[in-house]
Amino acid sequence: MNEKLLERLEAYEKTCFALGHAMGILSYDGNTSAPPKSAIVRGETMGELSRMSYELTTGPEAVKLLEDLEAAKDTLDPVTRRKAVLMRRIFDETDCIPVDEYVEYVKQREESEHVWKTAKQTNDFKLFEPYLQKMFDYARKFALYRAPDKDPYTTQLDSFEKGLTAEKCDKFFGDLKKRLVPIAAKAAEKSADIDVGPISVPFPVEKQKLLSDYLMDVIGLDKERCALGETEHPFTTDFSKYDVRITTHYYETMPAASMYSVIHEGGHALYELGIGDDIALGMLGSGVSMAIHESQSRFYENIVGRSEAFCELVLPKMKEIFSPLLDGVDVKTFWKMVTKVQPSLVRTEADEVTYCLHIMIRYELEKKMMSGELKAGDLPGEWNRLYKEYLGIDVPSDKEGVLQDVHWSEGLIGYFPSYAIGSAYGAQYLKEMGKEFDVWEAVRSGNIAKISAWLENKIWRHGKMIDPCELFESICGPLDANVFADYLEQKYI
Ligand SMILES: [Zn+2]
Repeated sequence: MNEKLLERLEAYEKTCFALGHAMGILSYDGNTSAPPKSAIVRGETMGELSRMSYELTTGPEAVKLLEDLEAAKDTLDPVTRRKAVLMRRIFDETDCIPVDEYVEYVKQREESEHVWKTAKQTNDFKLFEPYLQKMFDYARKFALYRAPDKDPYTTQLDSFEKGLTAEKCDKFFGDLKKRLVPIAAKAAEKSADIDVGPISVPFPVEKQKLLSDYLMDVIGLDKERCALGETEHPFTTDFSKYDVRITTHYYETMPAASMYSVIHEGGHALYELGIGDDIALGMLGSGVSMAIHESQSRFYENIVGRSEAFCELVLPKMKEIFSPLLDGVDVKTFWKMVTKVQPSLVRTEADEVTYCLHIMIRYELEKKMMSGELKAGDLPGEWNRLYKEYLGIDVPSDKEGVLQDVHWSEGLIGYFPSYAIGSAYGAQYLKEMGKEFDVWEAVRSGNIAKISAWLENKIWRHGKMIDPCELFESICGPLDANVFADYLEQKYI
């Protein structure tokens, strides 16, 4: 009997995969090479594909399959049992939303992202304001459909990180803030006289592309399965462990921006490329959560990529590529430049220390938007006020302020905390890894594969097999903001 059941499950997974694949390619194309007005038609197509996906996951066949799987639970292998659990979650999350509302939301989301791009380019918050409000309204409405008795923001957090609540976030950010604010102030003071002049002159984009290529090799990305594209706001899309796309944005006078984007997105890609072969093509075959994902990307970007050992490893090749631009820059100087701490306007360009302050601001704002305490029209003013309070800086324009991130325009509300939690996870991995081998020696000698093998074994190969909090705690124990603060203090003070 189970054989037939497994065949039905496999067929279901194949169709889900095909729809996800098609939508992913469209979205990747829209964010990279498609012309701006393609968004009008893409929205319609995405709406139709989403309808098909909705009908597939909530239709009578899926319901029957799910019921049969649940009835046969005790006779199923662990992988299939896990699939049934995830299917139930997806069904419950989707089925409570009326299909027409969902399809309308997907269309609006496409449009919102398109309008955000224009608004950002032209520094026109008013243009984006109604769309932004709509994205929050949808998030709140859908969260209440999903869990009528729960705080809608917690429901949103939980959808990105199973088990995460606003209460846990408050505790984490509260502990972190106490330590981070003084560390950031001291670190900024200490690095005030670091001159980043040598990496702020024009570095030809063609040569920066060579650097990207080299960095992909250094961190061990398999180019047969991973390709690099260009976009406004770098991201990673995975279709399977056989096709992962990373992106970057080249700024002529900021070579470090693209350098660290490639390493960051490369970290996301390594996770996807390292999913176990046994689960690669089914519904368990991708990263388990946003925070676990960000913990990989930020581990490679900051803990590995912004270590002195990594600078020692890559600087000779960089000197060769950009000759003569880096002549006379030694390892220590280069490392100081790429770890300079300075309060800044733009999150994606923030240093490792002040980065989480940017996240705290977004966390506070989206929590208040979800509760209705704030409206979209209040956001620019509140944004600017918090930047003054947390980072001590004035925001000169919405373009460099509230319009800077793509997330809210795409309905990704409750996503931002993942970046900070992921950063903190990374510091705890480092602590555990250090008990087994000399991490810096591995980096210095170019043996990044040793680090990757550790992460692959503990995290990547499991895909969605284990829930994120359980997975993390099985490796590192409970999340502890102080381990992250200790790491920053040791590195920067
Ligand atoms: Zn990321």
